[in-house]
Order: sequence, then C-alpha cells, then structure tokens
Amino acid sequence: IHSVTKVHRIACIPGDGIGVDITEAAIRVLSTLSNTLSGFEFDFTTFDWSSKHYLERGWYMPPDGLEQLKKFDAIYFGAVGWPNVPDHISLWGLILPIRKSLNQYVNVRPTRVLQGTTSPLSSCATNPTDLDWMIIRENSEGEYSGQGGTSHEDSPNAIATEVSIFTRVGIERIMRFAFETARSRPRKKLTMVTKSNAQRHGMVLWDKVFYEVAKEYEDVETDKMLVDAMTVRMVLQPKSLDTIVATNLHADILSDLAAALSGSIGIAPSSNLDPTRKNPSMFEPIHGSAPDIAGEGIANPVGAFWSAAEMVRWVGEQKAADGLMKAVENVTARGVKTKDLGGNEDTKGVTNAVCAEIETLF
Ligand code: ATP
Ligand code: MG
Repeated sequence: IHSVTKVHRIACIPGDGIGVDITEAAIRVLSTLSNTLSGFEFDFTTFDWSSKHYLERGWYMPPDGLEQLKKFDAIYFGAVGWPNVPDHISLWGLILPIRKSLNQYVNVRPTRVLQGTTSPLSSCATNPTDLDWMIIRENSEGEYSGQGGTSHEDSPNAIATEVSIFTRVGIERIMRFAFETARSRPRKKLTMVTKSNAQRHGMVLWDKVFYEVAKEYEDVETDKMLVDAMTVRMVLQPKSLDTIVATNLHADILSDLAAALSGSIGIAPSSNLDPTRKNPSMFEPIHGSAPDIAGEGIANPVGAFWSAAEMVRWVGEQKAADGLMKAVENVTARGVKTKDLGGNEDTKGVTNAVCAEIETLF
C-alpha cells in the first residue's frame, strides 16, 4: 500500500506584538497535528513583514510580496499594528492589500462559547449552545473601499469624504456565500444587517439583492435587522440568531461585540476566503497586536488555534481540523486558560496542554 503525504504550503506572517507569540504557538500546534496524524504535512515559510521593519525599511511588503504569497496554499497571519505607526498606514500597508488583491471577499467569523469558558451574558446565554453564531462579513468593498479625499487639510475648513462603494456583483456574491453557509448549519437561519433607513443608496441595493437571492434559498429562514437594533438583539436575545451577514464596517463592529460576548476577544478566529480558490485564503485571530501585553508571554492563543483549525479545514483536512478544536475545548474545559478567560496559565502553558491533548486524542 502506498500512502501519499500531501504537503500544504503555508505562508506565515506573525507581524507585531502578540501576533509573534501566537503565530509561534499556532505553528507548534499545527506541527504536532501533522506529526501525530498521517497523510499530510505543513511546509511553513515565515515572512518578517511588520511595523518594526516598516520603520527601518519604509515598506511593509516588498513590491513582489503579493506574487510571493500567491505561491502558497494558505496564509497564516498574526496581527499588525504598533503605537508608533498610524493604524491606517499599517492596515493599508499589509492586511488590506492582501485581502483585496487575493480576492478574499468573504470574512467568516464563527462565535460560540467554548467548553469551560463563560459568556458575560450568563443570564441570557446559560449554556454554550445559546450563543452559536456565524458572522459573514463582506470583505472587499463597502465602507472600506479606500475611496475619498481631503481638501484644505490643515485649515479650519478641512473637508474629507469617505466613500462607500457597493456593487451588485459584490453584494450578490457575499449573499450567496451567506445563504450557502446558513443552509449548511442545522438551524438554516440567516439574519441580514443594514442601515437602509439612514443610508439610502448602497444599503438599499444591499436589501434588494438580499431579497432576490433569498428566492433561490426557500429552505433558509431569513430576517432583516438595522445595525443599531442588532447590537441590542445580540445582547438580549442571543439564541434568536444563527448566521449573520453584514457589510465590511458593520460586521467588523458586530464581530468584536460577538467575540466579547463569547468570553474574550482572545478566542475569536477569522477566515479571509477567496471562495473561487484561485488565490490562497488567509486565517487570523481577530484580535490586534495588543501592545499592552506584548512581550509578556500571556496572550491567549485560543483564537490563533481556532483560526489554524479553520485553515486546516480549508485546505481539506477535515479530521485534523475537528481534532484540533476538540483538543482546544478539552483543554479549556479542564480550566487550562489564560488570564483573560479567568485562568492562570500563560501562552506556553496552554500551548503545551493543547499539544499533549492532540497526542492523546489520536
Ligand atoms: P487592532 O487595532 O489591531 O484591532 P486593538 O488595539 O483594537 O488592535 P487589540 O490589540 O486586539 O485591540 O487589544 C484589545 C484588548 O484586548 C487589549 O487590552 C489586549 O490586551 C486584549 N487582548 C487582545 N488579544 C488578546 C489575547 N489574545 N489574549 C489576551 N488579551 C488580548
Ligand atoms: Mg481592534
């Protein structure tokens, strides 16, 4: 019998602050996974694209950076941003060009309460299944299109425009992805979020396309929320929600709220997907570089592990992905947690425990 070992080539961009610690932790866990299970391996290549190097070199990514990334099967990203570089420069220097140029038009953000952790909503969400959401964020246009301009910049009459761009093509493809996601989940329920009462162009087109696409998915139950009312519903009626689709800006905000409601921003994962699979997709925890705790070795690596599990699933290793998540939850269930989740372990302690659990499981 010949067994074929599949090699998944992974580009790693640790970036800044705790991005470095949690990427190292994720690589360790992924290596343990591939050493324990047969049939696949990971080939990691690390890129030192960070704010520190930006200050020395004047660039985040070299001119052929995107071409280099295209050669990989997936990209693993830590975090970018540091207090001595304005946020819009670090964002537009690295992560936004990757998302845009590699056609990663979907950002998927699962949220649930992991075993052994508690939601701050303990009066509404009393057991883990009460809060189990899948937020689908439009990742390529809308409010983060980068269009606009400033005039009279340094005068009292300064004017700036920030133009949101919505296209039928862009809306339709995110809606289809959201409906497919909703259909694949047990509750088959999709909530669409806009602000079409106040924003009367793009948001109205968003509503219109939603209802059109909905006709193709009669088995999916739908409802519509305004974004302000949505924040209230997430807090007071978490059980009433399942799959959620929203624009770039709205979903950015809602998913930070979702992460906090699930227990800690340190556990939340995200996937930047090119559903056509012509380009590599990118996986990253949703938290930032956390300068306040950087270098202390106490960052929660769970969001990094969950993001790694989503990456493993995307490259086709279903069993390994499920095993990794099982290992993570067995560890949190035993109370092996970092401080943000009320535990007293550090990054290394949780990482060691997850590696040991993987070896026990398989
Ligand atoms: P960005 O602009 O990159 O999103 P931010 O400043 O908005 O960054 P984070 O860097 O995510 O936010 O940090 C927000 C807070 O959450 C900080 O107090 C940080 O210490 C905490 N935090 C973020 N990630 C983690 C983690 N993995 N483990 C523990 N605490 C975390
Ligand atoms: Mg943030």
